[in-house]
Amino acid sequence: MAMEARCALCGKKYQVSQEHPDYKKLESNPQLTFICDMCNNRVRFESEDQQKPKKPM
Ligand SMILES: [Zn+2]
Repeated sequence: MAMEARCALCGKKYQVSQEHPDYKKLESNPQLTFICDMCNNRVRFESEDQQKPKKPM
């Protein structure tokens, strides 16, 4: 059975299946902040981008 979780970043509702890595965490703590895969990838990409040294102007 899947449960519904709302992404904290984009606010969309997602069905979290039992295969999802966050399912058990959400099951034990429904108040847990859920971030969907799309936002997860975006956050990861942005943080990696910030770690790059800035080009000297
Ligand atoms: Zn999202």
